[in-house]
Amino acid sequence: MPNGWFRPGDRVTVTGIYIATHLQHRAPHDVFAAEGDRFPRCRRCGTRVNFALSQAASHIDSDKDFGGAVNNQPAKKRKKRSAGDG
Ligand SMILES: [Zn+2]
Repeated sequence: MPNGWFRPGDRVTVTGIYIATHLQHRAPHDVFAAEGDRFPRCRRCGTRVNFALSQAASHIDSDKDFGGAVNNQPAKKRKKRSAGDG
C-alpha cells in the first residue's frame, strides 16, 4: 500500500477531501474529513476501505477570513414590488 493511505480508526491529520477506496462494492469516491476526526469503517466492507488525501482544505470555520466572530445574519428578504404603477 502506498504511503499516504489511511485506514478506519486512523486519526485525520489534515482537513480536506479524501478519496475513499472500498474493497469491491463501490467505486472510489470523495469524502470530507476534518482534522481530529477518525476515519470511519464502511458499513459494507468494514475496515477494507482506505482513504487518501486528495485535496487539503481548511474548514471554513477555521479560515482566517471566514471563521471566528463574524455574525451569521440571515440574508434580508427582498421586498416584493407591487405591480401596478407604470
Ligand atoms: Zn465499503
